[in-house]
Amino acid sequence: MHLYIATTNPGKLRDFAAAASPQITLTPLPNLKQIPAPAEDEPTFEGNARLKAIYYSHHAPGEIVIADDSGLEVDALHGTPGVRSARYADDHHFTDPQNATPDERNNLFLISNLTDIPLNQRSARYHCVLAAARDGHILAIGHGAVEGEILPAPRGTEGFGYDPLFYLPSQHKTMAELNVATKLIFSHRGRAFSALLEELSANL
Ligand code: IMP
Repeated sequence: MHLYIATTNPGKLRDFAAAASPQITLTPLPNLKQIPAPAEDEPTFEGNARLKAIYYSHHAPGEIVIADDSGLEVDALHGTPGVRSARYADDHHFTDPQNATPDERNNLFLISNLTDIPLNQRSARYHCVLAAARDGHILAIGHGAVEGEILPAPRGTEGFGYDPLFYLPSQHKTMAELNVATKLIFSHRGRAFSALLEELSANL
């Protein structure tokens, strides 16, 4: 089976590359950077994943196109940043330091919002919803989540986004201390991908 992935996020693309197998080929949707991005204005991960998969499938007629919407939910912050995870610091005009990347700024903002929260009250989860569409019709949806805790300081250099702060108690490591193949086993994205494939195989 061949699947196109409609994301330009290099971290997500790396995770998906690790999910490929002799039976499943996964390639980025061609010319994605030239296609204007749709507004991701749904209040849920599933709503955004659906709208992106439908939208991008019109750019690859007859092909199966997968879209990912994902993010971090921190219990002490009432489930935020959630669907706003990619834009967390920007949304709150947290712009320092000027030379930091968006991921670094998001992480610094998260650390600053949790300063007063004790270590035993920093539970959080990553959530991922994947949608597969062909010619504007949804074929399958896959949900995945993973529970963890937010550390007060980053650890590790693998992964992307909030991975250096996201600690997996079962592994005694942050997501950024796992290689990409191991991350796939424990991650929200790996779990969502397995669920998606199961539904897709049943529906094709
Ligand atoms: P979106 O799905 O493009 O709206 O953005 C998802 C955002 O959630 C990313 O930019 C990251 O900030 C965060 N995120 C989602 N999945 C991961 C992950 O596997 N590791 C680290 N951060 C993630």
